[in-house]
Amino acid sequence: MKNLIEDVTCAGCYCACDDIRIETDGQQILEVQTSCAQGQDWFERAGTTDQLSPQIQGKPVSQNEAIARAVELIQKAQSPLVAGLSQTSTDAQRAAIALADHIGATIDTTAAAVTRALQQAGEATCTLGEVRSRADLIIYWGAAELLNNANHQQSLVANSSEVARKIIAMGGECSQQTDFIDECIQVESQRELEVIWQLRALLKGVDLAETEPVGIAESELQSLVSQLKQCKYIVFFTGPEFKQGPLAHRKLEALSLLIKEIQSERRCHSITVPAFGETKGAENVLAWQTGYAAAVNFAPGFPRYSPGEYHASRLLEQLEVDLCILTGGNPLVGLTEQAVQNLKRVPVIQIGPVLSSEFQPEVFLPAGITGIHFPGSMYRYDGTPLPLRGFLSTVQNSEAEVLKQINNSL
Ligand code: SF4
Repeated sequence: MKNLIEDVTCAGCYCACDDIRIETDGQQILEVQTSCAQGQDWFERAGTTDQLSPQIQGKPVSQNEAIARAVELIQKAQSPLVAGLSQTSTDAQRAAIALADHIGATIDTTAAAVTRALQQAGEATCTLGEVRSRADLIIYWGAAELLNNANHQQSLVANSSEVARKIIAMGGECSQQTDFIDECIQVESQRELEVIWQLRALLKGVDLAETEPVGIAESELQSLVSQLKQCKYIVFFTGPEFKQGPLAHRKLEALSLLIKEIQSERRCHSITVPAFGETKGAENVLAWQTGYAAAVNFAPGFPRYSPGEYHASRLLEQLEVDLCILTGGNPLVGLTEQAVQNLKRVPVIQIGPVLSSEFQPEVFLPAGITGIHFPGSMYRYDGTPLPLRGFLSTVQNSEAEVLKQINNSL
């Protein structure tokens, strides 16, 4: 019998669209009503997870044998790393943190630069609902994918026609491709930090008349300052292009200080946006479990935070780990190319609904998908937790259950 399920949440990316319509026959998904190709792919994955079996070095084994081998690897490891944590549920993230704590591992999300900046300068943020209802100036800085995401554009359509809003796109490769954008401001990627300081100086009333602006045309700098002064509620969406480079955390710190300056007379917030295919939330869970949002090491028996030292990509690049436990539906996202290459040189335990083709895990433990097979929750990119439904049956366990099985067997 066909069954139409309304308002299903998609956990395929940080947007967590919660208005998807799904038609099922109780056993499988027949139709996904969304225009988003990535969302279609995410739901279609549900048709493949039941065929996955536990593996050791690529050979099918029983679940108990795979768990026993995972436990053996963990017991031998001196310096394990827990990574991934994207496209997974809050419960699985909690279970991954509990395992890292138990075995004295390092655990890292992909948000080290953001975390580093926000630990220094703080973050004034808001929900998408506030952006939709109140923002009269929205600035997308290095967030081209979000800007062009039709679902996101739709989510900002205000209920009231009274909200007159201007939308500005900023960044190194900025082009006015859609009607959604009112203005496009080109900024040299290498000079973004200086552009933020110039904006802050002008807002503070510092006279820069004798100084030639760098990284941005003078007319655009002045126009932006006057718009920042005229608007009442300003929101910056900072995307992955803004967070690139070794100075990413400095740019985010500078932006936080600029936002504080703007807030002295009007409301201003920022929302950091991950790369497409990534989800946000692991940093929230890590923060309320350990006090730190990324790059946490449990080796001394308590959580230590050091974003430079305990960055997952750096640890893998330098081969400073002797075991890697990867979780989530998109476990390699956020890792550098070299780090992914080095996964061929350390034993890997992979837990999740997909088997990576880029390396051969020593142990693979399949899992069903929270949001399709299991209920749970996830965080949207504005920090709002959303419920996930389970509406199909599966032969697999959830990621959280597999992680708990390993933890309980140690
Ligand atoms: S934009 Fe993201 S959350 Fe929304 S349907 Fe597409 S993949 Fe899913």
